[in-house]
Amino acid sequence: MADLGKPQNTIAVLQKYNFNFQKKFGQNFLVDARVLDKIISAAEITETDFVLEIGPGIGTMTQYLCENAREVIAVEIDRNLIPILADTLSGYQNVEVIHEDILKVDINRLAQERNQGKPIKVVANLPYYITTPIIMGLFESHVPVESITIMVQKEVAERMQAQPGTKDYGALSLAVQYYAKPDIVAHVPPNCFIPRPKVGSAVIRLTKHRENNVQAKDETLMFGIIRASFNQRRKTLVNGLYHAPGLPFGKEQISNALEELGLRPDVRGEALTLGQFAELSDLLGKAGNVPKGHFG
Ligand code: SAM
Repeated sequence: MADLGKPQNTIAVLQKYNFNFQKKFGQNFLVDARVLDKIISAAEITETDFVLEIGPGIGTMTQYLCENAREVIAVEIDRNLIPILADTLSGYQNVEVIHEDILKVDINRLAQERNQGKPIKVVANLPYYITTPIIMGLFESHVPVESITIMVQKEVAERMQAQPGTKDYGALSLAVQYYAKPDIVAHVPPNCFIPRPKVGSAVIRLTKHRENNVQAKDETLMFGIIRASFNQRRKTLVNGLYHAPGLPFGKEQISNALEELGLRPDVRGEALTLGQFAELSDLLGKAGNVPKGHFG
């Protein structure tokens, strides 16, 4: 099958099958061989790897993955793409396409069955509206994952990689960085896709920490504190946490905890590092501060 990284080949396939793009599935197909090569090299795909591809479309990136990996599983929700994928991937023996919504797939089981439970690599060019649930789902459910290399909206990539004190820094930065090290590896303009999306994109590689360098005693509490801090971005941290509906802490308790951490009483959440949020959460969550069963 011809290389779908070339726009004329993608157009030929779309015409052959009279394919109708489905907006609800966020379908923008990549047609730039250089970007595809960059994704493969950023994901460090080698012939020993088992790769999960989410949303293969007509199989463009899948072809590149099959060329480089030991085995590829591609999960696609759109039934109209299944016969097309059978055609475009017919030259490869190391791929299986699963027709399913990725949010319903038991990825833990896939990793157990296909990769003896060893960490898998995930590669995806996803519709933007399911990017965050998928990434966080993979991290929070403790699926064995080595890295996730993913095309996302440019702004989302920047938020994932942002550091304290910058305008992009927020709950997403902290959630991603708790589990992984983010690296933006390419910026991808709209003309690299058919049809062209309205927004710019970026490829980001999230390398899962082997061992968390920051570990909160109660992750649910820490993420509750983080969300509350950024929901009320303009407020001081004391006020933001005190007024957050889900958190049971008194003003004095919060001020004391900040003092213990050597932070100013008027500090805002955006100034705290991940490590400081974990320490704050551990201090506030000390026995007796949070009613049993309050979280989770
Ligand atoms: N990977 C292809 C490429 O780069 O050309 C297609 C990318 S397109 C942005 C997103 C793909 O994800 C589409 O094929 C779409 O049908 C599929 N998709 C959308 N939601 C999905 C879901 N919940 N589960 C699996 N696939 C999904």
